[in-house]
Parts: sequence; structure tokens; C-alpha cells
Amino acid sequence: MDGFPKGTIVDLTHEYSDQTIYWPTEQGFELQEEFGGMTEKGYYYAAKKFTAPEHGGTHMDAPIHFAKDGKTVEQISVEKLIAPCVVVDVSNQTRQNSDYQITSQDFEDWENKNGKIPDNCIVLLQTGWSQFWPDRQKYLGTSKIGPDALPELCFPGLHPNGAEWITQNRKINAIGIDTQSIDYGRSTYFETHRILAATQLPFFENITNLEKLPPTGAIAIALPMKIKNGSGAPLRLVAVIP
Ligand SMILES: [Zn+2]
Repeated sequence: MDGFPKGTIVDLTHEYSDQTIYWPTEQGFELQEEFGGMTEKGYYYAAKKFTAPEHGGTHMDAPIHFAKDGKTVEQISVEKLIAPCVVVDVSNQTRQNSDYQITSQDFEDWENKNGKIPDNCIVLLQTGWSQFWPDRQKYLGTSKIGPDALPELCFPGLHPNGAEWITQNRKINAIGIDTQSIDYGRSTYFETHRILAATQLPFFENITNLEKLPPTGAIAIALPMKIKNGSGAPLRLVAVIP
């Protein structure tokens, strides 16, 4: 990339609001008014404050989230987070099966069509689930809040064998998905999270607008909030299509 990127910029980020989807056991994003209006000095002034868990909305998981010696958010270098991206579209498979898990076979099929997944790229997994955002029933499989929701979670994810394949056979910088979690909804041991975290790979969840990207050729720019010691952080993810 030399100079200012020319091309179409696509925002791959959901908004943060009281509609933003978090894990059912988490209290979601809140924005509180601190002041909004005319001051005594005659000028307008507005300020708010927000509270939010690390993991919800469009966000990055740092490896520490599922690995004791994993990196924390501020330790992930931005050089890794600005990179060419490839989009692996499995929305045909998920249309038939909400429990679909992306396997090594999907990566091999993708490569047969598009060429080898290049070194130092960011892999974005397109299940099509972002079309359901922010409808919790459709997006998560349940609109329940709290622990009762957990057995009802249902959405696609990355199969542990897909996670193993991509981390062992390719040298990628990061991976992202357009669902609430990189493990599919029915996962209870989060094997995919653990495989990725063990290799110090950061990953992104709840991303959107992947249908606007070509399978190859775009550049992803992923800028998480730089939370020291964070296990995850809100993420502004965009792509530039040259
Ligand atoms: Zn997370």
C-alpha cells in the first residue's frame, strides 16, 4: 500500500447502542447523558459516558481471552491488523443449516477457486448472519437474557478442524466472523476459541457488510480500542477496495 489508499471504503462495523447484541449473560452497551444543552456562557455543549463489556458488538478477542499466556489487546501490533483480506463466503451452507461449522474443506474449496490464502492476510468468514442483526431471536437463536438463553444459542461458526487447518497450514494475521462468536452457538467448550488463542491469533466477532467485499483484493483496517490488559475491545473495522 503506498500512500493514501484510493478506492471504496466499506464499514464492516455495527453501531453501538442499546440494541447492540452481547452475550446473553452480559449487560449490554449503555450511553448516559452527562450534559446536553446551552451552557450559562451561551454556547452549546454535549457530553455522554458509555459503559460496555469487552465482548459484544463488533469487537476483537485478544488471545488472553482463552489462553493464559495469550496477548492482551494493547500487545497486538497494528501492523498485524492492517492487511489484505480474503472473504470466505459460506452463506449457501448456512442457509440450509444454522448450526453450520466452517471446516478445512471450505478453506480448500475456497483456495481451489481463488488461489492460496496469502501469508499475513486477514481471513473474514461470511455466514450471512449479519442480515439478522439486531434481532436477537434470529441472530443468536434466542431472545432470552441470562443463563437460560445459553442452551438455546444457535448460529454458525468456525469448526475446530477449520481453526486447526488455518493456523497450522497458513500464516494469517487475524480472522473474523459475522456472528456473535467464532465458535458456533451450540459450542460449550469453545474449542475454536482455544485453538486460535493458543497460536496468539486475534479474531473479530459480529462483523458486517462482508457481502460488499470481493473474495480477494481488499485491505482490512482493524483498529480495536487500545485497552491495556484487555481480553477484548470494541473494534472499528473497515475495508478498502482498491
Ligand atoms: Zn469476544
